[in-house]
Amino acid sequence: MKENQDAETSFGFRKVPAAEKAGLVRGVFDSVAGRYDVMNDLMSGGVHRIWKSTMLDRMASQPGERLIDVAGGTGDIARGFLKRADERRRAGIDEGAHAATRASICDINAEMLYAGIEADGADVDPRLSRVCGDGEKLPFADASADAYSIAFGIRNVTDIDAALREARRVLRPGGRFFCLEFSHPITETLQKMYDAYSFNVIPWLGEHVADDRDAYQYLVESIRKFPAQDAFAAQIKAAGFARVRFENFTGGVAALHMAARL
Ligand code: SAM
Repeated sequence: MKENQDAETSFGFRKVPAAEKAGLVRGVFDSVAGRYDVMNDLMSGGVHRIWKSTMLDRMASQPGERLIDVAGGTGDIARGFLKRADERRRAGIDEGAHAATRASICDINAEMLYAGIEADGADVDPRLSRVCGDGEKLPFADASADAYSIAFGIRNVTDIDAALREARRVLRPGGRFFCLEFSHPITETLQKMYDAYSFNVIPWLGEHVADDRDAYQYLVESIRKFPAQDAFAAQIKAAGFARVRFENFTGGVAALHMAARL
């Protein structure tokens, strides 16, 4: 899946020059940033919250750890990571860990970061930082994180292999990798139901709620172009990760890929 800048890549079902994809993706998220969270709830009937909660369970954050959440958008994974670590500390588990838990949200799109800042309002957590940056060239030092996460982000990246290499670079040895992404339903019946829903209802919601039908048409198409569970697992392995595995959510509508940096 490596693509050089002269090559073409997919932007939904369209082929575009690879060098143009990041700008097109930025346009999508600039347009939907203000309605992003409400659209997620509407489109998934709230199910995305359950997927993310399960992801946070698997991440099992510990007090004193540092997370880098790439394509973090408005920041729900990063906030959840800190909250879960605090719960562990309060429960008396890991009482010995006194270093501050930290989370950095890195997103290529400043509008998405601002939408998260607005949502936080006065509830600012000083342990949370927001950085505008590209998942293919992360602005973080080698081996600087205990955990790396990317939720519904990797599909939007132009060179997925480059993003995976960066994930490995910023993780310390023993660090944990988590990628939640829409995937491919595991039964034909579910696939048919999912196609009918996503190609009809989601663009309609995009048009009437976020005032941008094209952005949500892109969402649906980009999901179909993303590799299936096994193929993506092989890509993660090829990037040098160990213990690569995945868990299907809602019959494969989404999948959580997990790995370790040894
Ligand atoms: N992680 C959040 C969530 O689960 O709600 C946001 C997911 S949103 C569908 C995808 C995010 O990926 C957008 O905020 C977008 O700006 C970001 N993004 C796209 N390409 C990126 C890149 N190359 N590097 C970093 N972020 C990127």
